[in-house]
Amino acid sequence: QSCFSSLEDVPLDPHYALKEDFAADPVTTKVILGSGIYRDEHGMPWVLPTPNHLQAEELVKASEDSSRYDYLPISGYEPFYTAARKLLFGPIAIPKDRFVSIQTIAGTGANSLGARFLSQSLRPSAVWLSNPSWINHANIWMTVGVNVKFYPYWNAHKKALDFEDMLQTLTTETNPGDVIVLHGCAHNPTGLDPTKDQWEKIADLCERQGLFPFFDCAYQGFASGNLDEDAWALRHFAFRDTLELAVAQSFSKNMGLYGERVGALHFLTASSDAASKVKGHLLRLQRGQISQPAKRGATIATTILTDDTMFTKWLDDLAEMSSRIKEMRKALYEELIFLETPGNWDHLLTQIGMFSYTGLSPMQVSRMRDNHVYILSSGRISVPGLNGTNVKYVAQAIDKAVR
Ligand code: PMP
Repeated sequence: QSCFSSLEDVPLDPHYALKEDFAADPVTTKVILGSGIYRDEHGMPWVLPTPNHLQAEELVKASEDSSRYDYLPISGYEPFYTAARKLLFGPIAIPKDRFVSIQTIAGTGANSLGARFLSQSLRPSAVWLSNPSWINHANIWMTVGVNVKFYPYWNAHKKALDFEDMLQTLTTETNPGDVIVLHGCAHNPTGLDPTKDQWEKIADLCERQGLFPFFDCAYQGFASGNLDEDAWALRHFAFRDTLELAVAQSFSKNMGLYGERVGALHFLTASSDAASKVKGHLLRLQRGQISQPAKRGATIATTILTDDTMFTKWLDDLAEMSSRIKEMRKALYEELIFLETPGNWDHLLTQIGMFSYTGLSPMQVSRMRDNHVYILSSGRISVPGLNGTNVKYVAQAIDKAVR
């Protein structure tokens, strides 16, 4: 008898289950629009020209540099998290000593470290996630023992943001010190972001209700193609200078460094004294979890962020990725209009970033599978999985599924 035999069975994460089903399908025309990974027009992973250059450079450097395998400090690579913070907050007038930054295992690690720290320091009665949210948010917060609650976000009927209900719930049901997780831009999974006017109202609400805003920024530059525009919401909160906040930052998508696990966690606090206390706690938690983050991806990202030529080239890469995604949204929309597919598909055009919530029901999703198109049962599609070769096929599968 094992001491683990009474454990509950944990089902495979839906993303990975979808991949397994897809791999087992022998049909060659099959399409998967599951995970949030950028693909080029040939359906292949895209090595951004910028990091590609760097890899060569890194190899040269590595042969010269005997410290290349040394440990980083617990907080990570200082030039990396400083440049990363500047990218998020821009030329901000807030004194540097009120910020705390630490390098993490990509965006997931930043969310996780932030959740663990806030669970212990704020002891919130709940964390508030959008309904729906990135599938891992609830998992991360449950793991650190915080009560997970959801605020209304996606209105399935209108295929739009449920803003009034969102404000109402957050006004009547939250307690001071609760944490609210906000997607900095390109909301995952819906592709729907609040307008600037709505962001201001959310910031007002955080002030009024004493909520602690935790931004998750996994797609800066990926949504609009413009790094500043995609950081607008976060910067608005910071510029008010009335709220303390946390930001989980990922370079997986916008630099195409998925497997390198490059990210950072930042706190903006009300005083330098608070910042130094937060820093001590984060370092202690980091020490207990990973001791120190990995070096290579962070040095690649730092070179892109700090070298003017590399940085300018990276802006071109961002423009290329975001504009291809926009073209694919349009292509899918046009195919559906051409097929006279029942329903309104305007939301495909207004949503932004990597994902689109199609509004397809689990039943319709399962019918698409019969036609060898694999998407999550929530109806979310990963738009970069579309290309000139498969977009017609996907539109036909949607068409058949909804009729
Ligand atoms: N937050 C959100 C909203 C995401 O969509 C993702 C990636 N799917 C992440 C965080 C974390 O990504 P990573 O750990 O690969 O940086």
